[in-house]
Amino acid sequence: MARFRRLKNYDITVDKQKAYTHNRLQILIHNHSNRLVGAIIDIGNSPRNSKGKNKTTVSNPQNEGLRFIDDSASNSVPDLFDSPRKTALRRNLKSWYRKKRRELPWRDTSEPYRIWISEIMLQQTTVAAVIPYYHRFFERLPDLVDLATADEDAVLQLWEGLGYYSRARNLHKAAKLLIDEFDGEFPRDVATLQKLPGIGRYTAGAIASFAFGVRAPIVEANTLRLYSRLLAYRDDPKSTAGQRLLWQFAEDILPKTDVGDFNHALMDLGATVCRPSEPDCPECPLVRVCRTAELGLQAEIPLAKQKPQITDLTEVCFAIRHGDEYLLRRRQAGEWWTGLWDFPRLSLTAEEVATLGIGSGQRNPKRSKSKMLPGLELIPSAVNDRLKQEVSTLTGVEIHTGELLEVLKHGVTRYRIRLLCFKADYAQGTIRSDAELEWVHPDAFSEFALTKTARQLANRLTPDRTETQ
Ligand code: SF4
Repeated sequence: MARFRRLKNYDITVDKQKAYTHNRLQILIHNHSNRLVGAIIDIGNSPRNSKGKNKTTVSNPQNEGLRFIDDSASNSVPDLFDSPRKTALRRNLKSWYRKKRRELPWRDTSEPYRIWISEIMLQQTTVAAVIPYYHRFFERLPDLVDLATADEDAVLQLWEGLGYYSRARNLHKAAKLLIDEFDGEFPRDVATLQKLPGIGRYTAGAIASFAFGVRAPIVEANTLRLYSRLLAYRDDPKSTAGQRLLWQFAEDILPKTDVGDFNHALMDLGATVCRPSEPDCPECPLVRVCRTAELGLQAEIPLAKQKPQITDLTEVCFAIRHGDEYLLRRRQAGEWWTGLWDFPRLSLTAEEVATLGIGSGQRNPKRSKSKMLPGLELIPSAVNDRLKQEVSTLTGVEIHTGELLEVLKHGVTRYRIRLLCFKADYAQGTIRSDAELEWVHPDAFSEFALTKTARQLANRLTPDRTETQ
């Protein structure tokens, strides 16, 4: 890190210039209220003093007490990225995109419906995972009216396996609103788009710029990383201050025309060149304007997010058989995977897990029953009565619990869950009329939108064990 020393009122020297790879350094000068009062200085071009150190003079500061701070502390975009840099960024990015753009199924359309669906699918999900879902979705629901008039179950079924199911429910709600209140037309402005369920600032900007060419900025995972590096922003880019800065920057660099392509280019560059680890700076069209490349701070920017503390949970579910059918329950509002169907599922307390004598078990191999849970074939009697009572309360049906079928592991947000799947037989009772419960033949499992683990268990219960995607 360079040290700055004030010689007289407005002269400074830089002692360790070679820390900066491009022999070039820009410094912002702030007063004690942290207000920018000094000019940007290019040390590399300044004359050397008698000791061989670069020396420069601040040309036009206000006459007040100065202190020198590291450049990344500023949150003023125009000062961080001046006009020549912005021009170079637009020009170089444009010519790079012409040669290197990713060919993606949702790129060659300006239909807001398709762009919207693809953007919602891409949230928290990789491009490769989205592509088959994207095609399947449009085979079944090719336009907005189809989506608005579809059953929620049908939409959830098309979403099964993508996760974050509130996205699908919000799509469905927003489609109805677009038909009912907007005559089936997408609004073109970001503010109105953001009023639709599930559409945040990024998605609104993407729809507006990709579909309508509106001059709207975007910040998503790839561009957040790219902007942070272009600016050498060292604080948390997800903090309020970080978000304000990056959105301001995204808006500041927008060209006057071809905004959709420009935003696509930024996303592509972030995804393919300015990667999270080992960004390919030598191949980057923006290397000459990138402040992180200048400073050699690629490994430190953006600031790594803190990993959430993981909590282990053990749950049980029952494949309750009655004749040839099994009992499925639709998950309710406030539960994980709302709207999807599942086998009746219950949590175990830490004390109950202890009575199973199976330890935490979380590090053991996936779905390896014999290694993972030696000795656990049946639910121990200490837990059995409580679970049977809970099943009865949840479903209205009394059961005889049976043997362990499968142990499945999966994660939800910060929870790592081990799911013990037991067989059970119907004993007596009638399913609750005030809950969504159905007896389902294995042949009909494919007609239900199931949770991921329910699908795994359903496949096991299906005679030919055909994997349903
Ligand atoms: S020069 Fe390197 S760090 Fe900077 S934007 Fe390009 S790939 Fe990212």
